[in-house]
Amino acid sequence: MNFPKYPVLAAALATLGALSACNDAKNATASETAAVVNKAQDAADSASTAATPTAGNASAASTSAGSPATIPAGQRADAATITARPQVPILCYHQIRDWRAKDSKGAKDYIVPVAQFRAQIKMLADSGYHTILPDQLYAYLTTGAALPSKPIMLTFDDTDLDQFTEARPTLDKYGFKAVYFIMTVSLGRPNYMSKAQVKQLSDEGNVIGSHTWDHHNVKKYEGKDWVTQIEEPTKKLEEITGKKINYFAYPFGLWRPESIPELKKRGMDAAFILAEKRDQQDPLYTIRRIIASGYWSPRTLHNSIVQSF
Ligand SMILES: [Zn+2]
Repeated sequence: MNFPKYPVLAAALATLGALSACNDAKNATASETAAVVNKAQDAADSASTAATPTAGNASAASTSAGSPATIPAGQRADAATITARPQVPILCYHQIRDWRAKDSKGAKDYIVPVAQFRAQIKMLADSGYHTILPDQLYAYLTTGAALPSKPIMLTFDDTDLDQFTEARPTLDKYGFKAVYFIMTVSLGRPNYMSKAQVKQLSDEGNVIGSHTWDHHNVKKYEGKDWVTQIEEPTKKLEEITGKKINYFAYPFGLWRPESIPELKKRGMDAAFILAEKRDQQDPLYTIRRIIASGYWSPRTLHNSIVQSF
């Protein structure tokens, strides 16, 4: 989906209501990922417990880490070392709600029915996964800091209200924390989270990340777009949370090399893509995630995690 002008997007968002702004443009990626995963599923099944990374002694691993600023630049590993470390599985969610008759086949990758979501999260807890947050991931990637056993990161994009009303209580049940990548244009709109809800998520120990102002494709930014889409929304999120915002997720998972220095200039320590290959020079700015599809049973999700990371 392309949004050539912001007013057009604003109108589209208002019309779409709860429908994620991401849906159309990400379908190809998600479908490809799903196809690869499905093919590999049987093979992965028998090896399903082997592939999650654990750095160091799990029982000694801290459940928190300082911000990237606490790690001196000279102590951070180079790109090759970072790329060589086992990847921590990262899941990307959008809407958590039951499917409606008008939902397209493709949209359902981005809409996880409530019962399916609860079953997916229960599977993670029952399988011994521990959620980690971006500071822990950053410390692990840059210094080799220990992580809890079976680490996983849960991320939620696009500010959808059901992330607060449905996902949050489910995660709370298991003591899980998550990252919420906020598109600031949507704050306070019907079916999107309010500033107060974002603040509450932050206060409760979750991490708020930046996901641009209005979901414009980073590949198309020029001139003032970097300010409008990254600098100003990030400042706004810092005002809302009272905390520095260190992490960014590319709309549609799309990025280009020129975006990395622009993100660095604006205080981002890492950025998240979707299932494509990482950048060899700047792996911290192309950290991979997979979309946890609404079609996926807990077993399929488990196989996808093992297969994709
Ligand atoms: Zn998005």
